Amino acid sequence: MSIQFYNTKKREKEIFNPIDRNRVRMYTCGPTVYDYAHIGNYRTFMFEDILRRYLEFRDYQVIQAMNLTDVDDNTIRRSRERGITLTELTDEFKAAFHADLQSLNIQPAQEYPEATGYIPEMIEMVERLENKGFAYKTDDGSVYFNIQKYKQYGSLANLNPAEMLTGERVADDSYEKEGARDFALWKGYKEEDGNVQWDSPWGKGRPGWHIECSVMSTELLGNHFDIHCGGVDNIFPHHENEIAQSVCANGPDFVNYWLHSEYLLVDNKKMSKSLNNFFTLRDLLDQGYHADAIRWMLITTHYRQKINFSVDRLHEAQKSVNRLREFRNKLVNYKDAGSDHAEKRVRTADDQFTKAMDDDLNISGGLAAIFELVRWGNRSMDHAELSESGAKHILTLMGKFDHVLAVLDMESGLDQIVDADFIESKIADRNTARSNKDFAASDAIRDELAAQGVELIDTADGTKWKLK
Ligand code: AMP
Ligand code: ZN
Repeated sequence: MSIQFYNTKKREKEIFNPIDRNRVRMYTCGPTVYDYAHIGNYRTFMFEDILRRYLEFRDYQVIQAMNLTDVDDNTIRRSRERGITLTELTDEFKAAFHADLQSLNIQPAQEYPEATGYIPEMIEMVERLENKGFAYKTDDGSVYFNIQKYKQYGSLANLNPAEMLTGERVADDSYEKEGARDFALWKGYKEEDGNVQWDSPWGKGRPGWHIECSVMSTELLGNHFDIHCGGVDNIFPHHENEIAQSVCANGPDFVNYWLHSEYLLVDNKKMSKSLNNFFTLRDLLDQGYHADAIRWMLITTHYRQKINFSVDRLHEAQKSVNRLREFRNKLVNYKDAGSDHAEKRVRTADDQFTKAMDDDLNISGGLAAIFELVRWGNRSMDHAELSESGAKHILTLMGKFDHVLAVLDMESGLDQIVDADFIESKIADRNTARSNKDFAASDAIRDELAAQGVELIDTADGTKWKLK
């Protein structure tokens, strides 16, 4: 079986073949650190986490670099608004970003390059583009990329060459597809840049946003690497411009697979700072939601489909995570010794999960395989039809799946591994209290267990328990 990914560059699914046999090099555009990232941003970062984790599940070694944009139009504007230096501003949000990644159990990348750490390399790349005739200087000390000189310009975003505004220029980092024109590689110093400036062959100035990623990706991963990711809004102009810069500076081979994730929406609109319809991770945690539910909500819709954010979805997500944890706890504590078909079931679940995820990370297919196993496992344990070794097999597979999902060991409102013997002994104490008509004591035991996320259910066959 081979993995297939939808490659934005080709607009179809393609078999994934890394340049090096077992090693995958991937670059993921990181946050602009002028504010807290919102959970829309984390949808994209979470997709990249699942992509990386799944490649690891398939035994690839993954080298990931994720940049931090710590100098651009937004960071400079915000630092001036707040009356602090660029570094004071970006240090605050770099730290917040790393803390969020940890809370969401996103695997750390090997490299987190920061744009301000690569200015000489950026100047060098712009010079190379200028020397090769792809760039030109303007009177204000800026340097622009001439899109007419690169015939494939627009191929990633599927632009119509007739609609490009040839001979016109755009100084802003972000602009619309309809306004494709020459873009800034280097921006000559302006009053509003305050003290953010570097010396260059063109005078004082600062890099454009797009050149930052062309430089950091190739510096860390080489001129030709496997995967480049971002959200769909990165396709144009950011990734289109990155391709133009890197190919014209370094040669035709740049990135083999371009993968882009769809938006997280709120009331059918993109969650974004500009619409002011966003939630940060902190907002949701402060409201009492757990990071595991947020993670689950963001990973369980296919990355090329939009997700509409709602608190109902978060509640549903929490239930699903709890169900998986409850299943794991039950397996850990399982003692009966039935004969069973666990090994065959484990193989089937593993194969089905892998087959689904190989198909462009089809997460719904992957989850269907997992929950099928959960249903079968629960039924078999309830009827004492599972052997202890069967339970161990299933546990091992659940651990393997959780390398990709990464929710079982996250902090939550629940204790993670519940000690079944302890709960049973509490139930026995409660039964004694009840037969002595000591209802205060029996209620106290119920409350104590409830506080640990354990619910007691009194049935005709005695008291059962489950995780809430
Ligand atoms: P920024 O900090 O604006 O550069 O964005 C960081 C990443 O978040 C980029 O890859 C964007 O494509 C992605 N992004 C921004 N808004 C959303 C959203 N609502 N849903 C999914 N991804 C998003
Ligand atoms: Zn980028």
